[in-house]
Amino acid sequence: MANPSTPFDIARETLKQLAVRRIAPTPDHYLTLYHEIAGSDPTQNSFPQHHLRALTAALPRNSPDQLGLIRRLEEHIKSNNWDAYRNTLCDFINNLIEAQKLSWSELINQLLQQWDARHQGLTAARKREMLEHVLSASSSNPETLYGRLQNLLKSWGEGITGEFTGASSELLGILPSSSEGLDAALKNLLGFTLETMIAGQLAHEPALAEEARRLAGEIGKIDGNERIEHCLGQFKRFAFKLELLAEDDQELRQSLLQLLQLLVTNINELVIDDRWLHGQIEVVREIIDKPLSQRSLDDAGRRLKEVLFKQSQLKASLFEARDAIKQMLAGFVDQLADFADTTSDYHDKIEAYADKISAANDINELENVIAEVMRETRNVQLNAQRSHEELRSAQEKVRLAENRIHELENELEATSDLVRHDQLTGVLNRRGLDDMFAKEIARARRHDTVLCVGLLDIDNFKKLNDSMGHATGDQALIHLATVCRQTLRPQDTIARYGGEEFIILLPETHLTDATQALTRLQRELTKRFFMHDNEKVLITFSAGVTEMTEQDDQNSAIKRADAAMYQAKQTGKNRVISV
Ligand code: GH3
Ligand code: MG
Ligand code: MG
Repeated sequence: MANPSTPFDIARETLKQLAVRRIAPTPDHYLTLYHEIAGSDPTQNSFPQHHLRALTAALPRNSPDQLGLIRRLEEHIKSNNWDAYRNTLCDFINNLIEAQKLSWSELINQLLQQWDARHQGLTAARKREMLEHVLSASSSNPETLYGRLQNLLKSWGEGITGEFTGASSELLGILPSSSEGLDAALKNLLGFTLETMIAGQLAHEPALAEEARRLAGEIGKIDGNERIEHCLGQFKRFAFKLELLAEDDQELRQSLLQLLQLLVTNINELVIDDRWLHGQIEVVREIIDKPLSQRSLDDAGRRLKEVLFKQSQLKASLFEARDAIKQMLAGFVDQLADFADTTSDYHDKIEAYADKISAANDINELENVIAEVMRETRNVQLNAQRSHEELRSAQEKVRLAENRIHELENELEATSDLVRHDQLTGVLNRRGLDDMFAKEIARARRHDTVLCVGLLDIDNFKKLNDSMGHATGDQALIHLATVCRQTLRPQDTIARYGGEEFIILLPETHLTDATQALTRLQRELTKRFFMHDNEKVLITFSAGVTEMTEQDDQNSAIKRADAAMYQAKQTGKNRVISV
């Protein structure tokens, strides 16, 4: 056969040639001849399991990436999957090459960005010093310089921000200065993480903290694969214990939350009948029903303090009033008893006098009896008058006590340092806003995040008041505050700034998103009408929004938002303008 093409033809030709060439028909001879006739490579289709296994075993195992690669390759060997083996290896090498390409323009871009960004604990001078150090130490080798610069930027961008300034500057000292030191640096990093970060977080679990420190020590001793295996086992057990601890913590948090809910429910039963107090308790309940955060707990704590403070004040005044009423009643009953005693005595005496009169024999005797009757009558009269006066004074005491309660309530609203919420709408009042504003500015600066400020003013509110009455105006304000609370995010702050003006603080929000949030609020108000006498009343507002700059303080930001709000009024109301 000139050119056998199908495996069947090749096999037939092979058998023929074995006979023609007088070759012994062993499997090896058959295979060699078969490939010779087919023109194919005898090694091509056999999977070199043995060699691949040896090759894979010889690969370095120094990083999680490398260990992952080896695990995948071993799986492919087990399933005799050459294609998968080849692809995995090629991908790995390509990624390695990609990762090592020096993208100078991107790096310089990052350098510029990080140079301009603010990092807590890092002054511009310190940055310059660090950069100069890197430049002078690696000027002759572009690769080394590239690696060091990358590490420097990483330490600026990730390591030295937020709360961990102190720890992170230590971290900077152990970051690798070039790729050759990566292994050691990774070990150091892991050790540092265990010893400083994890053990530090486990202050309430000394045994676990100790274990974290011990494991950190173990890492330093790793010098071969066996040791890694040993360490990995210990790590797994440690991680499992951490997991259990996290579950315990979660349970504890849940129980605390339930306890808090129970307390809040019961305070509600105890609070004196006051709409504001009940409103505050309701808000606290809403807050703790949502996922917990430091912000929401702070908020709940503040509101509960106000409730306790105001309730203790009201309770004291109510006790005063109750005592006054009790005294009055007791006095009244005494007077009545006295009076009854006096009058029954008087009746007895009058009867006795009547008997005396009828039995009187002469005018002298009668004169004496009449004088006695007159005296007794005057006594009764005096007693009645005294009772009357004492009743009047007790009544006066009650009236004074009642006045005192109202006075206290007013005083509380006007002067209390504790009350930070508006009594009508329940959102923050101006004092509460001042506190919250300072906190949010500090938070934004600490985390290097943006903070937006919105100021909104209800449109034509005077008209609504005039046409529907002041009480309805009040209800409209409550409605607006409720829609705000339910539409904005829990971390946003809502405060009543003046009569029908509200300030909204939007942390971690850029200007465009803040503007959108207020626009969404406007839309929400067109869906959720304010109802008055079963009629829908549309409430609209005009708003100004601004993003805080580094130079801003509370006043300058509010001023800018106010100017934008004024512009919104001037250009037709019911709109949001950002500056
Ligand atoms: P504009 O669209 O320009 O804002 O007009 P406006 O009527 O809303 O504004 P203006 O400042 O003329 O009127 C505000 C009104 O808000 C006047 C005041 O009586 C009323 N107001 C302020 N505080 C309260 C409050 O607590 N309850 C009620 N019902 N009305 C209030
Ligand atoms: Mg106004
Ligand atoms: Mg207005």
